[in-house]
Amino acid sequence: MHELWIASGLVEKLPEFSRQNPARTIIEVRLEIGELSHTDSNTLSFCCESITKGTRVQNSSLIIQETPALVKCPYRSYRGRPNYSDDVLVAAPVITMRCLECGETVAADRGQERTIKSIRFSEANAAQTL
Ligand SMILES: [Zn+2]
Repeated sequence: MHELWIASGLVEKLPEFSRQNPARTIIEVRLEIGELSHTDSNTLSFCCESITKGTRVQNSSLIIQETPALVKCPYRSYRGRPNYSDDVLVAAPVITMRCLECGETVAADRGQERTIKSIRFSEANAAQTL
C-alpha cells in the first residue's frame, strides 16, 4: 500500500519535532497532498493514525489539505486544470497528462505535493510553518 509508505515518511519526522520541543505537545498536523501525488486522503489518514498510535503524537488532529492539480503546456500558453479521461472502464476520472488544447504532454505545475505543511503546538499561537 503506497499510502502507508507516504504516511511513514511524513509521520516519522514528528517524534523529532517532539524531541526538539519537549515542553510542547503537537496538537495539529497539516499535510499537503497534491492531486497528482496519487494519494488517497482517507487511506493516508488511516495509515497516519495507525503509525502514530502509542506515540506522543497520537492525540493530535490530522488535517489533510488537498491541492488541486495545475498543468502547463510546453508548446502553447495553456496553464490550468489537467485533462481527465472519461474511460468507462475506470470508476473515477483519471488525469491524462495531455494538453487540453494541443494534445501534447503537459508538465505538472502544481499538485505533486506530499509534505507536512504546518505543525501546531499546544502553546498559544505557536504555529511552525515548514
Ligand atoms: Zn498544448
